[in-house]
Amino acid sequence: MKLLSVNAGSSTLKFRLYEMPEERVLTKGSFERIGTDDGDYTIRVGDEKIHKTAELHDHNDDSLDEIEAVGHRIVHGGNKYSKSVLINDRVLKEIESISGLAPLHNPAALRGVHAFHEAIPKAQMVACFDTAFHQTIDEATYLYPVPYEWYIKYDVRKYGFHGLSHKFITEKMTSVLTKKPNLIICHIGNGASISAIKEGICIDTSMGFTPNAGIMMGTRSGDIDYSIISYIMKKEERNLEWVDHQLNKSSGLQGIAGMNDLRDIDRAYLANEQKVVLAISMYTSRIVDYIAKYYVKLGGHVDAICFTAGGGENDDIIRQEVVNKLYPLGVTLNEERNKETIVRRGVEGIISGDDSRIPVYVLATDEELMIARDTYHIVG
Ligand code: ADP
Repeated sequence: MKLLSVNAGSSTLKFRLYEMPEERVLTKGSFERIGTDDGDYTIRVGDEKIHKTAELHDHNDDSLDEIEAVGHRIVHGGNKYSKSVLINDRVLKEIESISGLAPLHNPAALRGVHAFHEAIPKAQMVACFDTAFHQTIDEATYLYPVPYEWYIKYDVRKYGFHGLSHKFITEKMTSVLTKKPNLIICHIGNGASISAIKEGICIDTSMGFTPNAGIMMGTRSGDIDYSIISYIMKKEERNLEWVDHQLNKSSGLQGIAGMNDLRDIDRAYLANEQKVVLAISMYTSRIVDYIAKYYVKLGGHVDAICFTAGGGENDDIIRQEVVNKLYPLGVTLNEERNKETIVRRGVEGIISGDDSRIPVYVLATDEELMIARDTYHIVG
């Protein structure tokens, strides 16, 4: 079966065409500069760049007709969705009603759903939510210590994000260890989150009501004392939107070191730039804080600590700094293996020392494939 996996952001749309269940990638590409009215798309298919407005609207296009299902990444599933679901009118309405929780992302994803429905009306559509995997988190963990009615009236609670990635890594480790594993998964991209997995089920995650919570990220602060917000608004005589933007786009590594790409950060770190040394110390300490917290939550029974996403897969410096700080837990690093294990070069695997009490893995995540698997599972 030919199946399309779609990841629509606010201005780009990435897709992969799979042959399932073989999981063979037939085509991948992206639409850039998505125009809502004029349908002006730039399409990249592999290395070939095609600029063709009508491409998606040709109902008689054989290759489109062969596509039997489309899986869509939807950032927010609210309280409603703990699994991927087949899209129908009711589901569309529900996703729309949740849009207040993800005002930038859910409407963009919905535009993607409508565009593909128009282009390939025969294909079944599946919604794959980035929050769904975290819906197993218990009430005492997902509630904030704020007036309870905020939860009842406005759905204020921890949701967690990057769920497709955390689920993908959990399934990968389930097959590697041939058991339902206890894991601490560190998804270290520009956005970053950590999850605690107990017997294959998510019991906690570092992101919260929004993706701004948890560890320090590329440009986001992560957890801070909320009173800083009103204090800075007064001091700078600025409004809430300005502070929100600062915390979202000009904080994290960017805020401390003046740069957010981990490749730049690493170069400056090796050149011993003081702000960057400080930023890395803060960044890795916060990762370690969550690993320690989740170690305790898992009762000290952790089958593996896993690093994934752009930074986790490729950044041996961040991994080294994190693992070195985990020595009280008996976690050790094999420095050579850590340096060699770079997913970009095709190398995954264990980077911990042979004497490490908990093995540390570096694994490639694949959110598009997770979407394809869930979609195939539902329609296939
Ligand atoms: P997102 O989806 O949040 O943008 P990604 O998973 O694509 O995140 O990861 C982006 C991050 O991964 C960036 O900070 C980038 O610098 C980092 N990264 C990518 N390749 C490398 C590399 N070779 N070495 C170190 N960091 C890398």
